[in-house]
Amino acid sequence: MKVYSDIDGLTFAAMKGLMLHEATEHGLPVLDNSADSLRIQSEYGVFGIVDRGSNAIRIEVEADGPSNLHVLREGLVDHIIHFLPDLTQQIAWSDTVQEGLRPPNFQFAEVIAAERLCPSFQRLTLCLSKPEGFNDRAIHFRFVLPHQGNTDPEWPTLTANGSTRWPTGDKALHRPVYTLRAQRGAEIDVDVFVHEGGQASDWAIQVRPGTQVAVIGPGGGGVIDASDVVLAGDETAYPAISRIIESLADDVSGRVILLNHDMRKDYPLPQHPGLSVQTVGPDAFVTAVCAAASACTDGYVWIAAEAEQVKLLRKANAIEKHPKSARYLATYWTRVASESD
Ligand SMILES: Cc1cc2nc3c(=O)[nH]c(=O)nc-3n(C[C@H](O)[C@H](O)[C@H](O)COP(=O)(O)OP(=O)(O)OC[C@H]3O[C@@H](n4cnc5c(N)ncnc54)[C@H](O)[C@@H]3O)c2cc1C
Repeated sequence: MKVYSDIDGLTFAAMKGLMLHEATEHGLPVLDNSADSLRIQSEYGVFGIVDRGSNAIRIEVEADGPSNLHVLREGLVDHIIHFLPDLTQQIAWSDTVQEGLRPPNFQFAEVIAAERLCPSFQRLTLCLSKPEGFNDRAIHFRFVLPHQGNTDPEWPTLTANGSTRWPTGDKALHRPVYTLRAQRGAEIDVDVFVHEGGQASDWAIQVRPGTQVAVIGPGGGGVIDASDVVLAGDETAYPAISRIIESLADDVSGRVILLNHDMRKDYPLPQHPGLSVQTVGPDAFVTAVCAAASACTDGYVWIAAEAEQVKLLRKANAIEKHPKSARYLATYWTRVASESD
């Protein structure tokens, strides 16, 4: 499915500059970069612009389903509005967005099982009402949780320009990202790392089967195409690392470096014949990842952890010199200092 919106008062050159910058930042392939059109591939589909002359452009979005189309459309709209808020009213899509409806990537799921997988992880099994779109290349989603005391939540709705209107103030919704550890049709397993003070973590350890929960997704990630890999992450990344390991062919080799804050080795990571696994504490993580990355010059380096660790790794020589197209660094959570710190 493909939709477009014509926009006046925005030059092709200006918008092209913005979009090419974005493509470079995120390593997205440019499918067409000609005098009057630009098309960029993303994990959700293709987005682009066409020059209509005299300070006028057409923005276009093409995806294989309503959920991906919405994510792409929303991303493009948010970008344009961020730089040129005056254009908000002008964006009118060819398929006419049904203002007030739920976003296509929003759904309710039912908790069908909740049990302690190991001391630091609670496994939830959910039954999705709309499992389409979740697969090996789309393994992340967000829980959409009302804050404590909000017994009458307002759920997100679409705006006329295709973006999502989220409730604010007391009605604001908490939206932490999680990974589908496993999928069996509409049934998914989610492994929640149990940590102090976490709204999702607290919810996960007390939720009972039969509870309905709102989720939004899927988001990307999951498959790595390389014969040598480094997979490195803290507890929050164990489910994603597990999912990636399961997608690797048997002849892939490499190293898995698990940061564990308590030096626990109880998370059931899948076995792989070509991967060695090392568990380290927070102080040894950066050094261990850099050593592994230095020995993996032609391979893929995948890293996900707390913001400070990722920041240190981003600046590390061994990671900086690794080709951008063969590395992934993601902040999975950010430590908020408590008053006693
Ligand atoms: C792509 C992606 C995939 C993810 N997949 C998973 C997953 O499968 N399983 C999983 O458990 N997490 C996963 N995470 C991490 C998860 O989103 C965060 O840990 C999130 O903050 C947890 O939400 P919360 O409501 O429990 O805590 P919040 O309410 O967001 O935070 C409350 C407090 O807890 C602290 N906190 C948050 N996370 C941690 C932590 N890991 N250890 C210690 N303190 C913490 C915060 O600093 C804050 O002080 C993923 C993140 C991303 C970006």
